[in-house]
Amino acid sequence: MFKISVKFMKSRFNRYEERKRMVERLKEELNISDRVFRAMLKVPRHLFVPPQYSREAYSDYPLPIGYGQTISAPHMVAIMCDLLDVLPGHKVLEIGGGSGYHAAVVAELVGKNGKVVMVERIPELAERAKNTLEALGYDNVKVVVRDGSGGYEEEAPYDRIYVTAAAPEVPEPLLKQLKPGGKMVIPVGDAIQELYVIEKDWSGRIRKKKWGGVRFVPLVGKYGFRF
Ligand code: SAH
Repeated sequence: MFKISVKFMKSRFNRYEERKRMVERLKEELNISDRVFRAMLKVPRHLFVPPQYSREAYSDYPLPIGYGQTISAPHMVAIMCDLLDVLPGHKVLEIGGGSGYHAAVVAELVGKNGKVVMVERIPELAERAKNTLEALGYDNVKVVVRDGSGGYEEEAPYDRIYVTAAAPEVPEPLLKQLKPGGKMVIPVGDAIQELYVIEKDWSGRIRKKKWGGVRFVPLVGKYGFRF
C-alpha cells in the first residue's frame, strides 16, 4: 500500500483500468461508499488469485484459491466493508483470511495508524497471503495461523470483527473480543446462511440484525463446524 507509486498503480501491468471498471460497476449496482470504492481501486486482486485464474480476477465472482477454499466475490467484499463501517485507525480482526485480498482492502480503510489481524487456519494459504501482503507493502496486517473460531485473544479487544466463513452460530469468544461500540459482520448457517450485523453498545449489550442470504465456505473449528 505505502510502497506503491502512483505511476505503478496506473500502469497496464497493474491492471488499473480493468479494476476501475469493476469497482465502478459495483458502485453503480450497490451504491458502495466512496471510501470502499477508493480502497478497492487500490488493491490488485489479480495478485491474490492463483496464476491460472488471473485472467478472471476482475470479474465479480468467487475464485478457487486451493485447499477447497475461495476468494470472495468483489461485491461481497464491498458489502461487508460498508456494513462493517471501518474507520481510519481501527483495529480489525478478520477470521478466514484466505488469499489476504479482503484483509488488504480493510488495511487500506484503516490506514497506517490502524491494524488488521488476519487469522487463517490453513498454513499454506496463510503463508501465501503473508507473502503477497508483504510484497505489496501492507505492513499494517498481521497474519496468524490458527483456528480463529475462538478469535485472537492476544490482541483483543477489536473495533471491528468480520468472519468470511459461515459459523453454526455466533462464537461467544468473538463477542467478548469486540469493543463496546464495536461492530461485527459474520455469516451464520449451514445450507442456508444469513449475514449478521452485530453491534455491541457502550453498555456491552449485543444487538443482532440480519442483512440477507449469503454463501460462504464453512468455519471449521472449536466454535465452528467440526469435521
Ligand atoms: N477473506 C478471504 C476469503 C477466504 S474463504 C479472501 O479474501 O480470500 C474463507 C477462509 O476461511 C478459508 O481460507 C478457510 O480456510 C478459512 N477458515 C475456515 N475456518 C477457519 C477457522 N476456524 N479459523 C481461521 N480460518 C478459517
